[in-house]
Amino acid sequence: QTKNPAEPEFHQAVFEVARSIIPFVNEHQKYQQACILERMCEPDRIISFRVVWEDDKGNIRMNRGHRVQFNNSIGPYKGGLRFHPSVNTGILKFLGFEQTFKNSLTTLPMGSAKGGSDFDPKGKSDREIMRFCQSFMTELSHYIGHFTDIPAGDIGVGAKEISYLFGEYKRLSHQFTGVLTGKSLEYGGSLIRKEATGYGCVYFMEEMLHEKGESIRGKTCTVSGSGNVALYCAQKINHLGGKVVTLSDSDGFIHIPQGISDEELDAIIELKTFKRGRLAEYAEKTACSYFAAEKPWGIECDLAFPCATENEITKSDAALLAGGGCIALAEGANMPTTQDALEVLRNSGILTAPGKAANAGGVAVSGLEMAQNSMRMAWTTQDLDSRLQAIMKSIHQQCTTYGRTNGYIDYVKGANIAGFIKVADAMLAYGIL
Ligand code: NDP
Repeated sequence: QTKNPAEPEFHQAVFEVARSIIPFVNEHQKYQQACILERMCEPDRIISFRVVWEDDKGNIRMNRGHRVQFNNSIGPYKGGLRFHPSVNTGILKFLGFEQTFKNSLTTLPMGSAKGGSDFDPKGKSDREIMRFCQSFMTELSHYIGHFTDIPAGDIGVGAKEISYLFGEYKRLSHQFTGVLTGKSLEYGGSLIRKEATGYGCVYFMEEMLHEKGESIRGKTCTVSGSGNVALYCAQKINHLGGKVVTLSDSDGFIHIPQGISDEELDAIIELKTFKRGRLAEYAEKTACSYFAAEKPWGIECDLAFPCATENEITKSDAALLAGGGCIALAEGANMPTTQDALEVLRNSGILTAPGKAANAGGVAVSGLEMAQNSMRMAWTTQDLDSRLQAIMKSIHQQCTTYGRTNGYIDYVKGANIAGFIKVADAMLAYGIL
């Protein structure tokens, strides 16, 4: 903490990993002697830069951009870009650190990184977003490349922002390469990339339930968020016969006790993705229940899918979930559960899949997008969906291999150890560097 002051999210992420890895490392001298865990906690480099752009009124505006290149032991740096006012290097270090384990779990050759800016796309016009993205890429382009570092989207960075960023990179480099993932289909994107994180999270939950002889069919599910991850998580729950009763945004949540139908979900996707609308507007139009400034964890459910942001489930939220009959939780977001909330979930016997395992479907399909770009061909939806399912199954299998203790599967421990081994062995092979 003295070495990395004022980075509470990074400390939290490292603490949670160290808790499972230290006992494992103590039993395996080769990792201990080479200080592998300590080395994995230090990013390879952090790049920070000024981003100047002009708003629609002609005012000069300035933000700060960053790229944290964390670890490239098993492949080129890979991880999303986040545009949100809360972005700082501490948040990006936590996300980059988590990405190291997540990318390793996918079984694909990808190192880890994260980047972004404190730029807030909310309330900005398309032209303003375009000018910001172009300015951001002017500097970022010096540090990325299809064999070096391949960014993708995250909070505040969807298909539109990726298109502006890609266009600018193409202009600056005079090259058409797969330097970003999450691209649109017409210029090298992959089918099911936008659905992949949400779908993958539900596939992971289905694997957890199969272990108990159960399935998603007929289960009541609370979902938070209404962005890329949440909306497609809800869609897949519906496909598999579950019932989604909530969605949220940063202003509040909607509650539809009979379950959000496919038609209602399509309308919400249209509103949130293409019109940049708010759930409060949807509730007003359809007269469904809306709870301003509240989170959905007090609603009774069998399954919970936090898909909004970090630390959205606190200790008291976890107690509400346990009291409301929840049996399993899969993290669609990165680190949405605080440390003491995790403790409550564990003590209540709620199966808990950490984000680095449950939300790895997005980066996995990004890896498949890179493979398609390299081969200059495109796989079908069916092909990609079955590859995604196979990857989520394999991640689940890795978690159970290292997380099974006395009849309970500790998915957090399993994901940490399985993700650690591959990267640690590669680092050992390279010697001291
Ligand atoms: P989006 O920007 O598409 O959506 C984010 C959603 O979360 C929005 O509904 C937003 O509400 C809500 N939200 C954001 N911040 C807060 C907050 N402080 N309090 C309450 N609600 C909030 O992002 P994504 O869906 O892409 O990402 C969601 C999470 O999933 C993040 O943790 C991200 O790191 C993680 N993730 C994303 C992947 C991807 O492929 N996109 C891959 C793996 C993980 P509002 O509309 O009001 O802003």
